[in-house]
Amino acid sequence: MTAVDHRPGAATASTTTPLTTEAPGPLQDAREQLRSAVELLGYDEGMFQMLAAPRREVTVSIPLRRDDGSVELLTGHRVQHNLSRGPAKGGLRFSPEVDLDEVRALAMWMTWKCALLDVPYGGAKGGVAIDPRRYSTSELERVTRRYTSEIMPVIGPTKDIPAPDIGTDEDTMAWMMDTFSVASGHTVLGVVTGKPVSLGGSLGRASATSRGVVYTALAALRHVGCEPTSATAAVQGFGKVGRGAARFLDEAGVRVLAVSDQYGGVHCADGLDLAALEAHVDETGTVTGFAGAQPVDQATLLALDVDLLVPAAVEGVLHADNAGSVRARVVVEGANGPTTTEADRLLEEQGVLVVPDILANAGGVVVSYFEWVQANQAYWWSEAEVEARLADRMASAWQQVLAESTRRQVPLRTAATCLAVRRVAEAHRQRGLYP
Ligand code: NAD
Repeated sequence: MTAVDHRPGAATASTTTPLTTEAPGPLQDAREQLRSAVELLGYDEGMFQMLAAPRREVTVSIPLRRDDGSVELLTGHRVQHNLSRGPAKGGLRFSPEVDLDEVRALAMWMTWKCALLDVPYGGAKGGVAIDPRRYSTSELERVTRRYTSEIMPVIGPTKDIPAPDIGTDEDTMAWMMDTFSVASGHTVLGVVTGKPVSLGGSLGRASATSRGVVYTALAALRHVGCEPTSATAAVQGFGKVGRGAARFLDEAGVRVLAVSDQYGGVHCADGLDLAALEAHVDETGTVTGFAGAQPVDQATLLALDVDLLVPAAVEGVLHADNAGSVRARVVVEGANGPTTTEADRLLEEQGVLVVPDILANAGGVVVSYFEWVQANQAYWWSEAEVEARLADRMASAWQQVLAESTRRQVPLRTAATCLAVRRVAEAHRQRGLYP
């Protein structure tokens, strides 16, 4: 295990982490967003450096015995970007694209998301470079358990609390919780969130990110003068976030014309029959080949003439080369980091309202917080209670971001990042620097 370890509250920027010269990608986008917020808030370079560098990074090797007896070596990371407002919080991603810079960016966005929604956490993210579709369930369980055991020194209910992300789910969280609990000698429900409900998960957690995306989408549509019941939408990604977002949009009366996954997309000018599409996906594992629609490629889907576009797959899908063709009036970021900095500028020039990831997809971390609170108290809330509290938090965050955007005359992303960075910087200031 290699670790760069800075104590919470300490102001040292990592000397091994380049802060200004990294290659284009999510980390550069995240740092440019931070740079804009720091400048608007009038903070100095020291504050930028401190907030741009992760507090702690752990990279581990994960030897996996495959089902055929051969051994393969995988690499995993856990990055804790900031710990000043509480334990670190963030998902665990299983994807072949995972690298340390991606995990660093995602961890930074988690810090801002937690601060913006005022949940008492810092930000973290984990990733294992693996394509989960190529491995059996028992192989994935072994990968998860070994990864958990390698990062055990830095996680725990008061240190860092993982959750599901791309390629992971409630089963992954159950294995993590069990591995941590066995090593601790007692059951530790609060070490992860997004667990199965039967194992201390929260009612309403599985749908929380999608519900939050749709709360903000409906508010944003109304904000631009578009009544949701006469609006149309396209959703990229049909996993945990995109599938629920499409369903809840449909339930709210928005006509979802197109969706896609990594294999391709489908389009129906009259609106997709979501129930039939979900049944098709349950049977085949992909939206492609759905009889009730025409095929559509990813580029065309992003440029469809719809009111609302929800990218809910991966980072960087809206970039300098395709942002000019976006015709939606509102983009609501279900995914983390789907819009590059250059695309952000172009969309603003075109008058497209972009609801940033740290607001739009924060429903997941809000209900993760509720799950952690319930687990720590061993007292469980009803689904209606979870959803009502989530709706309150999302509505309040939307209003705060809108007000900040109006006050500063800046895009929603800059406003949201400013609000979040100010809260984190305030926590640093109040805690002071440990020598
Ligand atoms: P998931 O693995 O459940 O689903 C991902 C979906 O995206 C799949 O349908 C996959 O086929 C599709 N996809 C992948 N690459 C694609 C591409 N190039 N084009 C089109 N589709 C593609 O993952 P998820 O949990 O739904 O996460 C999606 C995004 O939402 C990620 O950016 C994640 O970080 C973010 N997010 C997730 C949560 C959560 O609670 N799961 C919370 C906040 C943010």
